Amino acid sequence: MFELDKLTGEIKVKGVVDYEENESYELDIEASDKGTPPLAGECRVIIKIKDVNDNPPEIEVTSLSNTVSEDSKPGTVISLISVTDKDSGGNGKIISQILNDVPFELKPSYKENIFSVVTKGVLDREQVSHYDITIKATDCGEPPLSSVKTLSIQISDVNDNSPHFQHTPLEFYLFYLIENNVAGNSIFSVSATDKDVNENAAVSYHIVRGRSENDVTSFLNMNSENGDILALKSFDFETLKTFQFQVVATDSGTPSLSSNVTVNVFILDQNDNAPVILYPVSSNGSAEGVEEIPRNVNAGHLVTKVRAYDADIGYNGWLLFSLQEVTDHSLFGLDRYTGQIRTLRSFTETDEAQHKLVILVKDNGNVSLSATATVIVKVVEPKEAFAASDVKSATMDEEDYNVTFYLMITLGSVSTLFLISIIVLIAMQCSKSTDYTSKYLQEPNYDGTLCHSIQYRSGEKRYMLVGPRMSVGSTIVPGSHANTLMLPDRRTAGEVRHFSDYPHRFRVACSSGMF
Ligand code: CA
Ligand code: CA
Ligand code: CA
Ligand code: CA
Ligand code: CA
Ligand code: CA
Repeated sequence: MFELDKLTGEIKVKGVVDYEENESYELDIEASDKGTPPLAGECRVIIKIKDVNDNPPEIEVTSLSNTVSEDSKPGTVISLISVTDKDSGGNGKIISQILNDVPFELKPSYKENIFSVVTKGVLDREQVSHYDITIKATDCGEPPLSSVKTLSIQISDVNDNSPHFQHTPLEFYLFYLIENNVAGNSIFSVSATDKDVNENAAVSYHIVRGRSENDVTSFLNMNSENGDILALKSFDFETLKTFQFQVVATDSGTPSLSSNVTVNVFILDQNDNAPVILYPVSSNGSAEGVEEIPRNVNAGHLVTKVRAYDADIGYNGWLLFSLQEVTDHSLFGLDRYTGQIRTLRSFTETDEAQHKLVILVKDNGNVSLSATATVIVKVVEPKEAFAASDVKSATMDEEDYNVTFYLMITLGSVSTLFLISIIVLIAMQCSKSTDYTSKYLQEPNYDGTLCHSIQYRSGEKRYMLVGPRMSVGSTIVPGSHANTLMLPDRRTAGEVRHFSDYPHRFRVACSSGMF
């Protein structure tokens, strides 16, 4: 390590000295003269090595769990590390820290320079599933030396999320189903997602069954894997207009979590009922009747009123009357809307005593259905007719009562559906504010006169405004949905897709007299 100059006595460093290997050296030095005999003297030189900071700290991982459960409590130990520095004093004094922003911290342990890495906050695998913890150890030398070590930690899943149904913007599902659906087919589908992974996110579905036998859910079947709902029967709008049920989505975690959702179904009308003639009806049940009127009546005399009923709703149940067959066109006129038959002029001597009128009653469905009634008008001398009219007015009163009763039922159903739709609409509007750059779409194939409907687009939704007749060009205030029904947009698939297949079916007709 050292060399000594023989003549001058200088001691020089020859090899590499290392404080960490040897802190001091002892040299025994002898000096001698050149006399005869030579005389000599001795001394001992002690050389102390001064430490320099030539060793960086060393970080050693003594134990490590690579995966940490996301439900670990703060303070859970995930690793033990030891940090050492071969230097002495300040050069060997170490400051350890975690460099990056992670929910972990270093904690000193029972022994100096041994640290534990512990969880600091709450972990959530659904937000961050993996962490790299960078630990840096720096000594206090001048200049300081440091080293870095990275721990890789995987966060393991815990079943802490329930399945979530995708039915925004509503809090429930809203489906429209055209009546007379094919039994056994899938009518709509629900879907829930789960933020967890694997088993904890494997969702299955079931319908909450009612207790009673007639519960509507007994006519529904659910594919537990994909959320498809099948109708086991064909629904009839005239029997059932709306129903709701609950669907539960459950994950396969242990323990499993579940959530449920309400499914609201509106059945939409199809024109599957032909008009039924309520008056006239003959004793054998056919729609035929005989009316007797005095020969001396003036033009405009009410001969009779044909009454009919249609079980469908809206256009499908809106009836128009027309004369299909009449012996003398100049004598009788029929009101298209009311079914009233009136004389057009006074009778003359040359007029026949008996006239046959065949009245066609047609609904306004897309494919319209019809029925016919036959009225035989007998023109009699004034005396006979007077007696006959007494009897007739008594029977007419009863007929009136029946018709009113049917009308009330129809009206009640229409109003209920209308109200429900408005409530749904309001709920939707409350949950989502829309851009009201509306675009009005005039119903193109509309030819009626009692009712007027206008479709318009507002944001992502289509609406149809239904109201009493108004002239084309009337002003509609965008954003005012007071008397609108919502039409799901054809472009958006999903929960309303079955409806959008038949958008022309969903109409509510009304006459100003009804509402
Ligand atoms: Ca050092
Ligand atoms: Ca050193
Ligand atoms: Ca889950
Ligand atoms: Ca989880
Ligand atoms: Ca129907
Ligand atoms: Ca009909």
